[in-house]
Amino acid sequence: MGAAFLKDVRVIPSYGNNTCYLSWDLTDSRLSSSTLRIFKSANGAEWQLIDEVVAVAGAYEDVTHNVRNRVATYFYKFELIHNSSVFVSETYSPIQLDSLREMGIVNFIVNEELKYMRHGGSHVAVLKIKTSGTPCPDCVDPETGQRLKEYCSTCHGTGYINGYYPPIMTYVRILNEKNEGLISDNDSGAKIQKIERTFRVINIPFYEAGDIIVDLKTDDRYQVSPLQKFEFRGLSAVIAHLNTELLNRDHPAYSLLLQTS
Ligand SMILES: [Zn+2]
Repeated sequence: MGAAFLKDVRVIPSYGNNTCYLSWDLTDSRLSSSTLRIFKSANGAEWQLIDEVVAVAGAYEDVTHNVRNRVATYFYKFELIHNSSVFVSETYSPIQLDSLREMGIVNFIVNEELKYMRHGGSHVAVLKIKTSGTPCPDCVDPETGQRLKEYCSTCHGTGYINGYYPPIMTYVRILNEKNEGLISDNDSGAKIQKIERTFRVINIPFYEAGDIIVDLKTDDRYQVSPLQKFEFRGLSAVIAHLNTELLNRDHPAYSLLLQTS
């Protein structure tokens, strides 16, 4: 088995909560009940055990991760204990920035944005779409890999089991809302309301097409459109303006829970 007991490991700083989310999948379902120890390091050399979870949990929120005031990159690694053998993972890091100077500038921009967003913005949950993982057995043809139906409740329409990573709570600003009125749905022919919103976001972690932004006041769920224009290039595109479209209430993404544990 070696060290490759985890796959799709993500380390996602949440600037809204001032925490860090870790998520992972297991390479082998027989490891589900194993113990997973989570270690953290400020320098990649000295490690501190921060918690122990059941491996199948798939996600962990590090509340000791002060993402807003960080002065150093944090590193994480995992130890899996299976039948009294110990396996050690590689090292994971939440951000890949070129230098401490760049990180300092990013921190400054993020802090300034957050001040505005906390007062004049909206509290949202961000659901990052899975782009790899175990193919959904209910809607993916195992032979061709083709998606067989659009609205699937097993994978929430993504083609991968569970579909989305655990929610990240944060703040955004609504820049623009456009109501296109009633249009005909391509499949059913039913009339549906088409509403588009442009959000200004802190682009860490990077948003991708298919990600979902949940307005926590109304539970309206907006999906990030495939084509994006990042207004603020350079410096890792820290701030982005995202075009999104409101999902219909019968979309499987509405069955995704927002609790993380
Ligand atoms: Zn499916």
